[in-house]
Amino acid sequence: MSEHEMNERDHKKLGRELDLFTFSDVVGKGLPLWTARGAAIRREIERFIQDEEIKRGYSHVMTPDIAKLGLYEKSGHYPHYKDSMYPPLTTEEGESFMLRPMTCPHHFELYLSKPHSYREFPIRYAELAKLYRYEQSGELMGLQRVRGFCLSDAHIICSSEEQAVEEVHKALDLIEYANGVLGLQMGKDYTYRLSQGDRANTEKYFKDDAGWEKAESLLREAMQKRGVPFVEAKDEAAFYGPKIDIQMKNVNGKEDTAFTVQYDLSSPIKFDLTFTGDDGKQHRTYIVHRSSIGSIERTMAFLIEKYAGAFPLWLSPEQVRILPISEKHVEYANEVKRVLNEAGIRVELDASNESLGKKVRSVKTEKVPYWLVLGDQEVSTETVTVEHREKGKVGSATLQEFAVSLKEEIRTRA
Ligand SMILES: [Zn+2]
Repeated sequence: MSEHEMNERDHKKLGRELDLFTFSDVVGKGLPLWTARGAAIRREIERFIQDEEIKRGYSHVMTPDIAKLGLYEKSGHYPHYKDSMYPPLTTEEGESFMLRPMTCPHHFELYLSKPHSYREFPIRYAELAKLYRYEQSGELMGLQRVRGFCLSDAHIICSSEEQAVEEVHKALDLIEYANGVLGLQMGKDYTYRLSQGDRANTEKYFKDDAGWEKAESLLREAMQKRGVPFVEAKDEAAFYGPKIDIQMKNVNGKEDTAFTVQYDLSSPIKFDLTFTGDDGKQHRTYIVHRSSIGSIERTMAFLIEKYAGAFPLWLSPEQVRILPISEKHVEYANEVKRVLNEAGIRVELDASNESLGKKVRSVKTEKVPYWLVLGDQEVSTETVTVEHREKGKVGSATLQEFAVSLKEEIRTRA
C-alpha cells in the first residue's frame, strides 16, 4: 500500500470526512463523540453481536460503570492495573469509587448473589460494557486507543476444566463467525497469539507456576486442535492468567489486540466462586473471560480502514439516497422516502437544485451503496430506477420489490 493510500484509509481522516465521529478538547482527549451516522454503524454491530450471543446461550446482563474501590482491591485490578485506571472519586462521606477498567469483578459479584448448583453450568454472563482506562496522552490514537470504550465482554463460569476448554473453543467459534460476518479474514486481517505470563515476575502475575503451565498448554492445545497458525509471546498475559489474543494491524502497521479469550487462575480463589456439586459438597469454579468483537471503538477503527468507508449495506450509515431529477419529482421522492423509512431502511433524499450528474458524483464520493433515480417515467409507473456503488445500473423495480429485496440483503448481512 502506498503512503498516499495509507493516508486515504486512515480511520481518523475518514471518520471526519464521512461524519462518523469527532473529538473535542473541551470534552477531553480520547473520548469520542459519535454522530448519528457513526452511531448507526455501532448500533448495527451491537445488535448483531448481542442477538448472536443470546442465540449461543449467553445471558446478557447489565452492571454499573463505577464501583467501590474495594471491589478492585478484591479482584487485584488495584494495584495490578492501577496505572491504567482513573484515580478514585471520593465522596464527602469518605467512600471511594472507581470508574471501571474491566467488567470481571462486577460479573463475579452477580454470580455470588445466589447459590449455584452443578446443573446450571456453564453460566455465560455477557455485557456490552462501558469501560474507562487512563491511557497516556501519547498513546491515544483515534478510535484505536481511547480513554472510554464499550467492550463486548463475557465471563463464562464453568464447573470443570474440560468444560472451560470446551468454552474456549466455543468462544473462538463465535469470534471466527463474527469476523466472517464483518468480512475479516484469518491470516489477512487477523492473526492468533498465545500470550503467556512470566513465572519470575510475581509482582505482575498471580503466583501459581503449575497453574500457569497447565493453562498455557490448554490454550496452546486448543489452537493446535483447531489448526490455526499462532505465535507465542512472553509477558503479554493478563495478571490472572494466559490468553489467546486475536491481533489486528491498522493501516499504518500498528498491531493491537482486537479480540481475546483468557483463562483465569486467580478469580475463582479471590472471589471464592464455588458451587454445590452432585456430591453435595462445595467445588471451585473455572473461569474463561472473552470478548467476541472486542472494543466496539477499536473494531470500528479496523472496519473503517478495511472498507475505506465503503461499508457493506447492513453497516452503511446511509443505505439508499433518492435523487429526483427535477423539482416536479420531489413529491414522489418524499413518498418513496417515507415507504423505505418505514421499512427500517436508512434513507436520505437529495432534493437540492443540483444537476443529476452532480448528485450522482456526491453519492459516489460519499460511498452510499444504493441510489434511486426518479424522473417522469418513474413517477408515472410508480417505480424506481436502481443504481449500485459497485454493480452500476441495476434496473427498474416497483418500490415494494425494491424494499423487499433490500431488506433481505440487510437481514442476511451479505
Ligand atoms: Zn474479564
